[in-house]
Amino acid sequence: MSEDCIFCKIIAKEIPGDILYEDEQVMAFRDIQPAAPIHILIVPKKHIPSINEVTEEDETLLGHLHIVAKKLAEKEGIAERGYRLVINTGKEGGQIIYHIHLHLMGGKKLITPKHL
Ligand code: AMP
Ligand code: ZN
Repeated sequence: MSEDCIFCKIIAKEIPGDILYEDEQVMAFRDIQPAAPIHILIVPKKHIPSINEVTEEDETLLGHLHIVAKKLAEKEGIAERGYRLVINTGKEGGQIIYHIHLHLMGGKKLITPKHL
């Protein structure tokens, strides 16, 4: 838990979140400013600022985030149509909240930027 982290506060239920899933390791809630009809953030309960700070110890946790994303995509009915999973990292990667989160976006044909 990091005192000044908004995602730690959602995880601790100190501030509200539209929570869809929770287990011992992760929480998933809807993005407050959705970039797609379905936009869910899958967040480890452990406060890790970014992918730059992960260690070997976090290997299972990072895998688990993806398994939860897959299950939520099925639950939201977008598994077959397809979706996008993104982890923004650092300033030029567009990261705004420094607590790792996996974006699950779908429900429409997503635009692919030219650099991808
Ligand atoms: P990133 O740019 O990858 O750090 O993404 C941060 C995401 O968190 C953005 O898509 C925001 O809309 C979202 N966000 C910020 N505050 C909240 C909040 N209180 N509840 C849910 N999502 C949030
Ligand atoms: Zn945090």
